[in-house]
Amino acid sequence: RRGMAKSKFEYVRDFEAPDTCLPNCWVVVRVDGRNFHRFSEKHNFEKPNDIRALQLMNRCAQNVMEELKDICLAYGQSDEYSFVFHKKSSWYKRRASKFMTHVVSQLASSYVFYWKEFFPNQPILYPPGFDGRVILYPSEQNLKDYLSWRQADCHINNLYNTVFWMLVQRGGLTPAQAQKRLQGTLAADKNEILFSEFNINYNNEPLMYRKGSVILKKKVNEISTKVIKLKGEEEIEVEVSRSRNQFAILHCDIISDTFWEENPDIFS
Ligand code: ATP
Ligand code: ATP
Ligand code: MG
Ligand code: MG
Ligand code: MG
Ligand code: MG
Ligand code: MG
Repeated sequence: RRGMAKSKFEYVRDFEAPDTCLPNCWVVVRVDGRNFHRFSEKHNFEKPNDIRALQLMNRCAQNVMEELKDICLAYGQSDEYSFVFHKKSSWYKRRASKFMTHVVSQLASSYVFYWKEFFPNQPILYPPGFDGRVILYPSEQNLKDYLSWRQADCHINNLYNTVFWMLVQRGGLTPAQAQKRLQGTLAADKNEILFSEFNINYNNEPLMYRKGSVILKKKVNEISTKVIKLKGEEEIEVEVSRSRNQFAILHCDIISDTFWEENPDIFS
């Protein structure tokens, strides 16, 4: 770096272990809020779904995608978000620690930075933390199955939480009683409790709660006109086209093939 000579301390760099991600694999980084059970209580999140908190997570995830260019898709639910780096990415020589720490720190600082846009009347009481992990998927099918797994998890948890909080908030049960009531019930039983006791058709609950959020990147060409003047000639107008990223946040099913057929360019 600075100066020509290497210090006698340089050898300590050899203690750093290589952590290159296998080439040609999709790199997924998943982050998850640390102890958000407590964080959500302390910050008076509405149960089971605080829409402000979900939209804040979506905003943060979009910021991560704006900053880290090789991410082609993100999927989030609850206090977690998964980011997919393109399999051809050579960012930071594909070092796993770089992928993971850049995603998790960018998300965590965004969470605090954007907090008051989404919670104007609720001060943030302490700095939240997030964990991160890296997972490699060697095929597009494995990657799609990973994303399906997260969306299925969203569905299972949200159905449970929706009934649980109905039993507590409107059914007058204590949390312990509600938990007991739901022990061993199947999805059909939970749908039935919602329908017969609370007149709720689960399928009419907001899509963002049931399906989570997918963020896609779309390249758009912006065409603008610019006036230029060459030496000794008159001014002329030229069209300049600049490619820019646009982000779309969707709350749709990503398990069925339809989504992938309708968005064939995501992984290209
Ligand atoms: P860990 O540190 O192991 O992740 P955790 O308490 O964060 O612990 P999770 O399994 O990640 O456990 O669950 C997240 C918790 O945060 C859920 O219990 C849920 O109640 C709460 N939570 C997250 N997002 C929301 C939201 N938008 N609205 C209401 N509650 C939320
Ligand atoms: P990278 O993303 O690769 O880390 P970088 O620009 O952060 O890129 P570093 O090698 O980490 O590169 O160097 C940090 C830079 O930040 C330095 O060049 C220095 O100019 C600036 N910097 C950091 N701390 C201070 C400080 N306290 N006062 C002034 N400048 C600082
Ligand atoms: Mg530095
Ligand atoms: Mg966890
Ligand atoms: Mg968590
Ligand atoms: Mg979680
Ligand atoms: Mg630096």
